[in-house]
Amino acid sequence: MTASSQVIYARVPSELKARAQDYADERGQKPALALAELIDKGLQKTETIRDLRLRVDQLEAELVAARGHLSSTEADMNVLRDRQRTLESAYQALAGRLSRPLGACPSCHKSVTGRDLFVDGRCSNQACGKDIASLLAPDPTGFDRGEFLLLVGAVGLVLGIALIQSKSA
Ligand SMILES: [Zn+2]
Repeated sequence: MTASSQVIYARVPSELKARAQDYADERGQKPALALAELIDKGLQKTETIRDLRLRVDQLEAELVAARGHLSSTEADMNVLRDRQRTLESAYQALAGRLSRPLGACPSCHKSVTGRDLFVDGRCSNQACGKDIASLLAPDPTGFDRGEFLLLVGAVGLVLGIALIQSKSA
């Protein structure tokens, strides 16, 4: 006991008093000293438990925040996936259109596709390889205007989706 010791009067159940007495006897201590030690240990445990509860509360709050963040990230990813799918199907439609015959080469009269006209700019017949931009002149002969308009539509669709997506991004 230190010089600053205080006295506590407390009424305790007989069983508790007997256990405290056993504790003191086992250690060969005076009952009052043993009780002071037991109260100190009990308070330390209470503080430890309180600290642990606070930590658990803190970790639970962090978990809730992390879950919220994860679900908003998942929602963002779903939006991006949907956009990618939409753009992919528009690109596929455009790729399909680009491979269809648009007309005949003015020079060798072999079939010319949208890819030949817009991507390569020349006849795909290696023996010819002529510039086929003249197919874009007003009313060229052997030119499928309907097919050309469908191709322009497919290009417009891809550009439209890309524009909408860039605005909403
Ligand atoms: Zn040609």
